[in-house]
Amino acid sequence: MQLLKTSSNITNKLEKLLGRNNVLTSNEDLYAYTNDCNCELLPEEKPLAVALPASIEDVQNIAKLCFENNIPMIARGAGTNHVGGCVAKKGGILIHFSRMNKILEISQENLNAIVQPGTTIEKIQQQCEKKGLFYPPDPSNLKVSTIGGALALSSGGPRGLKYGTAKDYILNLKVVLADGSLIETGSNCSKNVTGFNLTQLFVGSEGTLGIIVEATLKLIPKPQTSKILLAYFDTIEDASIGVNTILEAGITPSVIDLLDKFTLQTIEAFKPSGLQTDKEAMLFIEIDGTKNSVIEDEKNIYNLLNNADIEIIQTKEQEQIFWTARRAAFGATSKLKGNVITEDVVVPRKQIPTLIKGIKDINAKYALTACIMGHAGDGNIHPNYALDFDNIEEMTRFYKAKDELFSLALSLGGTLSGEHGIGFEKAHYLKKALGYREYIISKQIKSLFDPKNLMNPGKMFIE
Ligand SMILES: Cc1cc2nc3c(=O)[nH]c(=O)nc-3n(C[C@H](O)[C@H](O)[C@H](O)COP(=O)(O)OP(=O)(O)OC[C@H]3O[C@@H](n4cnc5c(N)ncnc54)[C@H](O)[C@@H]3O)c2cc1C
Repeated sequence: MQLLKTSSNITNKLEKLLGRNNVLTSNEDLYAYTNDCNCELLPEEKPLAVALPASIEDVQNIAKLCFENNIPMIARGAGTNHVGGCVAKKGGILIHFSRMNKILEISQENLNAIVQPGTTIEKIQQQCEKKGLFYPPDPSNLKVSTIGGALALSSGGPRGLKYGTAKDYILNLKVVLADGSLIETGSNCSKNVTGFNLTQLFVGSEGTLGIIVEATLKLIPKPQTSKILLAYFDTIEDASIGVNTILEAGITPSVIDLLDKFTLQTIEAFKPSGLQTDKEAMLFIEIDGTKNSVIEDEKNIYNLLNNADIEIIQTKEQEQIFWTARRAAFGATSKLKGNVITEDVVVPRKQIPTLIKGIKDINAKYALTACIMGHAGDGNIHPNYALDFDNIEEMTRFYKAKDELFSLALSLGGTLSGEHGIGFEKAHYLKKALGYREYIISKQIKSLFDPKNLMNPGKMFIE
């Protein structure tokens, strides 16, 4: 086939495939896609076009066009990742899944759901709950984040402690490869050890191996009831120790999130919700299960955390208020200086106090403002840095702090990301985190699926 030479030829061809309304090419439209929640604007890295497919076949046709013309392709869900994962780093066609947003099936018998990649997590959870079923992974922005993006990052969320993350609730994927071919990575059975576990290879691969066009999710029965406890501590170390106290007693709450004093103050200034703002740290604890087990866990946690000031939330309305407050931490931080960068490091749980102390020391050394919070039950901490991107001197300090933050996490036996992924934001650190040999093997795996390096190039691996 003769190669299409110019960008207008490509966009014309795309319009023929998808219809004119389903290909965005205006400067204004493309500008809107130069960013994600990494927040660092990259206006010079606009995609050539944004394609809005409606079917698997549409995605295959887009991929074939890109493959034949050596054009990068970047899958995009809601664009809410924090690592620059779905921007067009090397140009190319951005494939946005807003039209592939349907739940195709929810099966009570099979305990699974078949969904298109653009479906929001909230929609999946709400529809499953109507049938008494539960899809636990819940990134804090679940209202907008899509299942395609969540699987591509193996997103987690507050409930990761008890229930795991996106990787634990996936049975099978349909994936379009770079050349436009369609593969199925597993089966819809609840057990399967037939061949390599390709499903788990694609989960967390950040769109660098192929494009997820359908997913069969594993579901579980919905827990009977739940309760929230807010435990306030005089020191952040006490709060970190409180996490291990609960777990060592054999209790596994669905959520143990830690929020430091500055996070509590920032949320309250942004959206007053009734959080205490004079204590050094709070544990946001949710327990769930049967009515009896929740009563028992509540009593035990209350007794175990005898150095904490504990508030037990009594009504579902109040619970909603505190969930909204908890989920507002990122948005609230962005009000402090105009910009925010969320980091995401993870360590073995017992290292949490050392990690938090280290983060505070680094932030003090570089005079940075950060709200420290995270899924402490998972050893996963997010310092949310309030920054002014126009302040070059401050950004230089931030990048130095970031280097030290990742070195600290690695030195504690931890790693670069618990749930946000690598994107281009952490690509420079990946070799150090994985090790040289492991890095090379990972690149070799990528080139097997994507020999021309057209799938989300410039992410994970620095060329
Ligand atoms: C306020 C806020 C709170 C958050 N809280 C959490 C949290 O608690 N836990 C957590 O883990 N994350 C959290 N995040 C990060 C983010 O929401 C999640 O990572 C989310 O799941 C990304 O979904 P998305 O649809 O926005 O994906 P996008 O940002 O659009 O894409 C993410 C990555 O997936 C790839 N991708 C997208 N769709 C596909 C596809 N169909 N096939 C292949 N690759 C694809 C993209 O190329 C990109 O690399 C939060 C973000 C915000 C803004």
